[in-house]
Amino acid sequence: MISFYPGPSRVYDEVPRYVKAAHKKGILSLNHRSEEFMKLYEKTVALMQEKLHVPSDYKVFFLSSATECWEVIAQSLSHESHHIFNGAFGEKWFDYTKKINSAATAHMFDREELLDTSKYNFTSGDLIAVTQNETSNGTQVAVTRIAELAQRHPHHLIAVDATSSMAGIELDFSTADIWFASVQKCFGLPAGLAIMVCSPRAIARALELNETNHYNSFTTLNAMAEKWQTSCTPNVLAVYLLMRVLKDQDPIEIVSNKIIQRFQAWSKLLEVNLALQPLIRNEAARSYTVLAVEMKGGDLGKLKAQAKKSGFLLGEGYGNLKGNTFRIANFPALRRKEIQKLMRFFLGRG
Ligand SMILES: *Cc1c(COP(=O)(O)O)cnc(C)c1O
Repeated sequence: MISFYPGPSRVYDEVPRYVKAAHKKGILSLNHRSEEFMKLYEKTVALMQEKLHVPSDYKVFFLSSATECWEVIAQSLSHESHHIFNGAFGEKWFDYTKKINSAATAHMFDREELLDTSKYNFTSGDLIAVTQNETSNGTQVAVTRIAELAQRHPHHLIAVDATSSMAGIELDFSTADIWFASVQKCFGLPAGLAIMVCSPRAIARALELNETNHYNSFTTLNAMAEKWQTSCTPNVLAVYLLMRVLKDQDPIEIVSNKIIQRFQAWSKLLEVNLALQPLIRNEAARSYTVLAVEMKGGDLGKLKAQAKKSGFLLGEGYGNLKGNTFRIANFPALRRKEIQKLMRFFLGRG
C-alpha cells in the first residue's frame, strides 16, 4: 500500500536502514545529556542550515509535535496573538491559543483568495500567527505575503505553521520569527518529533516575558539548547533519523523544484478528469504539497475503495470537507513511479 495521506505519510525507503544503523551505533539507548547527543543536535542544526537554508543566527528547538509548538508559542512567546487563517488547522491553532490567552483574535479569509496583507493593520497584540500551508483544504500563503505582513507589523512577532511544507518547498526563514513543523509530513519520517526555528528577536522576546511555569517553557528550552540539550528526554531516534534524512536529501531548492513540477502535473491531470477537480479553483492559492480534490457527482466511497484495492491510500477530506473531497500528499518521499501509477489510476477511471 502506498500512502498518499498528507501526514502521517510515506516515509523514505532508507528509514529502515537508518534505524538499523541507529541500533548498531547505540542511538536507541543514547543518553540525552551525553556528548554524543549534543554532537547529534549540533550536526542536525548544521544540516538544517545547509540543506533548508535556516539562517545561522536562528535557533532550532526539538519538540514533540506541531500542536506542542502552538502551545509553547501561546505560553511563552505571546500574550495577545492575531490569527489569520482560512482552514481547520489555522482555526485549531487559534482555539488552543484562546484557552491560554483569552485576548487572542481570529481573522478568517476566503480559501479562494490570496492573503490580502493590506487588510491588516494590528495596533494591539504582540504576535501574528499564519498557517503557511493549510493541510485541511490544500491552500498556501506565499512567503512574500508573510514578509509583507511582517513589514506592516514591525513590533509583532510573526509565527508560521509550516508543518506540511517545511522540507518540501523553499521557505525564506528570514521573513518571520518562528517557524515550526512536525516530521511526519514533508520530512518523510515517522511521527514523534517537531522542529521549531526561532529568530534572535523571538528569543529576546521570550526572555523578556520570562515565562517559566512549564516543563516546555521557552526559557527552559532555550537554556538547554544553548548547550545542545533538551528539557526532557527527547525522541533521540527521531533526531537521528532527521539528521540522516537531511544529510542524504538534496538542497531544498532542488526538492522544491521537483515538488512544483509534480504539482503542475497534478493540476493538469485534474483539468482533464471531469469527475474530479481541485477543490481550490484559484490555482495561485493552491498548496504545492497537499492537493485537495473534489469529486463532482459519483461515489467518493467507491473511489477510495477502488484506490485501496489498487494499492493507494488516499487522504480523507478534512473536517467538514470529508463528504466530497479527498487529499493527495505531494511530499518529497513519494516516488515518481508511485505518482505516475496513481495518475494512471485516475485517468483510467476518466
Ligand atoms: C499536521 C498538522 C499539524 C499538527 O501536527 P502534529 O504534529 O500532529 O501536532 C498542525 N498544523 C498543520 C498545518 C498540519 O498539517
